[in-house]
Amino acid sequence: MKIFKFGGASVKDAEAVKNVANILKYFPGENIIVVVSAMGKVTNALERLTDAFYYKKENAEEVLNEIRKYHQQILDQLFPDRNHPVHVEISNTFVELDWAIEEDPSPDYNYDYDKIVSMGEIISTKIVSAYLNEAGVDNKWWDVRGLIQTDNAYREGNVDWALTQYLVDRHLNSYFANNKGIVVTQGFLGGTSENFTTTLGREGSDYTAAILAYTTNAESVTIWKDVPGVLNADPKWFDETQKLEQISYQDAIELAYYGATVIHPKTIKPLQNKKIPLLVKSFLHPEEKGTIINDVQSPLPVPSFIFKINQVLLSISPKDFSFIMEHNLSEMFNLFAERQVKVNVMQNSAISFSVSIDNDERKLPELIKTLQKDYKVLYNEGLELITIRYYDQATIDRVTVGKVILLEVKSRYTVQLVVKNA
Ligand code: ASP
Ligand code: MG
Repeated sequence: MKIFKFGGASVKDAEAVKNVANILKYFPGENIIVVVSAMGKVTNALERLTDAFYYKKENAEEVLNEIRKYHQQILDQLFPDRNHPVHVEISNTFVELDWAIEEDPSPDYNYDYDKIVSMGEIISTKIVSAYLNEAGVDNKWWDVRGLIQTDNAYREGNVDWALTQYLVDRHLNSYFANNKGIVVTQGFLGGTSENFTTTLGREGSDYTAAILAYTTNAESVTIWKDVPGVLNADPKWFDETQKLEQISYQDAIELAYYGATVIHPKTIKPLQNKKIPLLVKSFLHPEEKGTIINDVQSPLPVPSFIFKINQVLLSISPKDFSFIMEHNLSEMFNLFAERQVKVNVMQNSAISFSVSIDNDERKLPELIKTLQKDYKVLYNEGLELITIRYYDQATIDRVTVGKVILLEVKSRYTVQLVVKNA
């Protein structure tokens, strides 16, 4: 069994969907579970729809019609024959969305969010599955909500691994015991014991691929992307990037944790536990090798860089000039956890504690206000956080040209630098 994951960019238009069929034709006779995301930027559009519906921010029907039009165009190009049953099926699916936005909002925004936003993957998989069948790539459409079970933490569903394993064995694994071929299913979605829809957090389709790989004991997972593999830096911020041939699970976890966006951070651990290799390959050049993440021990051959912009550095010290003690730290971290503020890097001295966090205008002002009750809070905005895995002094010097270093935290393999332009 192989797991293939196709993200939004790989199904963003009719050409892209045709390309998925071509890639699958490279693997005749294999058992493959194809995990598909919503097409293009549809998840963002559905988030807008949810806000339009819930907060009346804009006209929900208009937003929905944009989404409908975008899919209709792809559908018309893939299925010029208007009598093909997929046309009726997709328009029926949109009727569900029409109904959803006619109802009154529920008390729980996140519940409504998952109900609406999840439709992106339902629609994309229906179109992709129908097109593949049309193109001679026989496959079965599968509703992943009957396999991956979560609690009811809407928008951030926590997977119930035991129940998921049971359902995958009972339905999917037993299907593959008697059938060969391709199954097409949704990334990002889960179901609850009461049959409600949940999502696994933005960009969660990689994680879906890992969950299905783990529970089916797959031989590998391939994430098909619009880049040649995992690079040592984001080309958006860096001119000279290099493709990494091979990465250890440990390095991949660290890179994803510090904010490399190629792979969703939750993806690696389940694969590492079963030593299932993860391949990151280009859907434009499927013949090329890409990057393999597996059980090697060797460190990366070149330093890897992760940039986060829009950082705020908070320096927090007790108002009474006492030292920073354990109970202060515990108070602060409780506050961060309550407010869902992620600490990107931290450092403490006797009288002050510093953290760099994302400048989120919905969270920061309130956070500072609360901290100011007991602490003096200095803050510095408009900063960058640079993380270098396998650093050396030369690379530190290179990335900090023209910058002032406000905070530097070094461990054996990783350095984190909070900097501002000089
Ligand atoms: N469609 C979802 C998102 O854009 C999940 C994914 O693409 O991984 O967040
Ligand atoms: Mg996406």
